Amino acid sequence: MSLHQISSFANGAWVPPGPGARTIASAITGAPFASAGNTDLDAQAMLDHARDIGGPALRALTFHQRAKMLKALAQVLSEQKQALYDLSFETGATQKDHLIDIDGGIGTMFVFASKGRREMPDAHVYLDGDVEQLSRNGTFLGQHVCTPLQGVAIHINAFNFPVWGMLEKLAPTLLAGVPAIVKPATNSCYVTELAVRIMLESGLLPDGSLQLVSGGIGDMLDRLGCQDVVSFTGSADTALKLRQTPAILQNSVRFVAEQDSLNASILGSDVTPDAPEFDLFVKEVAREMTTKAGQKCTAIRRIIVPETQVQNVIDAVSARLTKVTIGDPRADDTRMGALVSNAQKADVLAKAALIGQEANRVFGDPDAFELNGDPNGAFVPPMLFHCTDPDTAQRVHDTEAFGPVSTLMGYRDLNHAVEIANRGQGSLVTSLITHDPQVARDVVLKAGAYNGRIYINDRDSMAESTGHGSPLPHMVHGGPGRAGGGEEMGGVRGVMHYMQRTAVQGSPRMLATIGGKWVPGAPEITTPAHPFTRSFDALEIGETLHTAPRVVTLDDIEHFARFTGDTFYAHMDEAAAARNPFFPGRVAHGYLLLSFAAGLFVEPNEGPVLANTGLDGLRFMKPVVPGDAIKVRLTVKQKTQRNEEYGEVRWHVTLTNQDDEPVAEYELLTMCAR
Ligand code: NAP
Repeated sequence: MSLHQISSFANGAWVPPGPGARTIASAITGAPFASAGNTDLDAQAMLDHARDIGGPALRALTFHQRAKMLKALAQVLSEQKQALYDLSFETGATQKDHLIDIDGGIGTMFVFASKGRREMPDAHVYLDGDVEQLSRNGTFLGQHVCTPLQGVAIHINAFNFPVWGMLEKLAPTLLAGVPAIVKPATNSCYVTELAVRIMLESGLLPDGSLQLVSGGIGDMLDRLGCQDVVSFTGSADTALKLRQTPAILQNSVRFVAEQDSLNASILGSDVTPDAPEFDLFVKEVAREMTTKAGQKCTAIRRIIVPETQVQNVIDAVSARLTKVTIGDPRADDTRMGALVSNAQKADVLAKAALIGQEANRVFGDPDAFELNGDPNGAFVPPMLFHCTDPDTAQRVHDTEAFGPVSTLMGYRDLNHAVEIANRGQGSLVTSLITHDPQVARDVVLKAGAYNGRIYINDRDSMAESTGHGSPLPHMVHGGPGRAGGGEEMGGVRGVMHYMQRTAVQGSPRMLATIGGKWVPGAPEITTPAHPFTRSFDALEIGETLHTAPRVVTLDDIEHFARFTGDTFYAHMDEAAAARNPFFPGRVAHGYLLLSFAAGLFVEPNEGPVLANTGLDGLRFMKPVVPGDAIKVRLTVKQKTQRNEEYGEVRWHVTLTNQDDEPVAEYELLTMCAR
């Protein structure tokens, strides 16, 4: 049978395998399946193509335009996911595994698309935090801004998630406005290649924004400069080697590493075998051991349980593992497929043997297990070890057998449990199954510094919880130390890995123009008509309405108190109010001031303002006493188009008294028709 020819996409063209190509075997038969790699790939031309063509094209788009592109790409991938499933079985993955890799990857892209639209501006600059007041009179301010790096992101991915691994990096990279060169692990690159083909053939991506290296990457890393990023996922050994590339060190190239880690799951000391948490723990452990045949960076490698529960847990986990049918991942009744290759199988068995020097295997024999598949495939059974002395053991805390292999250990008390967990020297995730929030708090305080994520589950959350092993696009993924010291995803945080944060200092007028957002102190534009009569498109940033003043009387305050029921003493009792350190005597309700402000600035007739959707950052700065006169300044601060029909207008609202002292300030949110 002829081998599948897996191409690279370089400098705008598909390049088939050539000199130096490697043969990739099927995980489920061990027979040659595909060929990939070509040492003739021109790394410099690929980098130039990304930097000179892809980067400028992406940077010309706003965050919202890029987010829309991501959504469309995710839709195209979703429509064609059956083809990805069909091919992916060859990596040894089951249909359930595909849901994590393929559907999980597409879902991640959808989340970034939606976060890009909702949490980032329809602009080219992302503002990080608020304006910083750097001077007494407010004529000199500071603002942190983020702009896209002007180089290229090199994504080097692990074999276990050929689709998710690519998309979880690609989505934030493209959203940032940075082109990517994706280098999947060779063993499963044929699945990535198909996903890249689907995206490129959609015509949605600007030229140069996505290239692919199937096979070796040549000397590309030696050619990186200060505007480039390497985002690596794989083993600690490879990460250590690559991050020492002289060009990466010399040019301070950002190197984000997601490595292997010896993740743990702790059973709380409060959990007895009859509690719902006990079953939950056993289920999570068994699932984490066998999903993707244990080839998950987040899999539970160390199972940490109270000493009194050791035998109960061994029995319960073993009972579950007995039910795991192993074999051809295409078969409906297969629960666990194959490892990615026979080389990987040899590696897992060698690592399991190392662990076996310190722990007894209590479940799973690689030389004797029931197999419903080709014996030449890379199949192994789940293997559970029990280590009786986790304090002196070393291998169980530092050896990652990247397969269905976990070690169980007993702990004396919660401090001991955390000590054992922290001996992983930095993990992607530790889970804790407990119903006691004090136990949860203790573990977070003592193990937080050693973990990128802590997953707590109990009877209250188990129906909706997402699983110990699932990194979510909303939450950061990564971990300290052994786990690589990197961080990915976490919503907009993940986009920042591909942008430069710059502290910009200058006058309000400068900052308002740079950020596309009005800043107090920046020039006002006198509105040509009442701003509520002007459409979203017509309104200009800085457009301002000043209202007439209104005197606040004691009658107003009493009327408002009776009408709303808010008869708090500060509004009703002169002597009591005067005893309060904040008030000179009876004062107006803050909510009365807000209501009067609305009455002052509103334009009552039907017009482009569709709805008031909220109010941010409300501050009452000075009390208003009967007889004071308040007036309002209403300024267009920021505009964000929501769809073809309307957009959000954020107004800066300041209430001042007769002495021009600010008494209240807030941001008003409205939806306005275009
Ligand atoms: P690996 O052997 O370290 O390879 C990772 C990637 O590095 C592959 O794409 C590999 O390409 C590439 N690579 C290796 N040597 C290179 C070199 N000299 N120059 C450029 N690229 C090079 O890891 P793996 O076996 O694919 O994946 C398994 C490991 O990844 C496990 O340890 C697992 O824990 C870890 N992992 C971590 C995460 C996470 O998010 N933290 C996620 C998944 C997996 P080739 O395949 O072409 O050699």
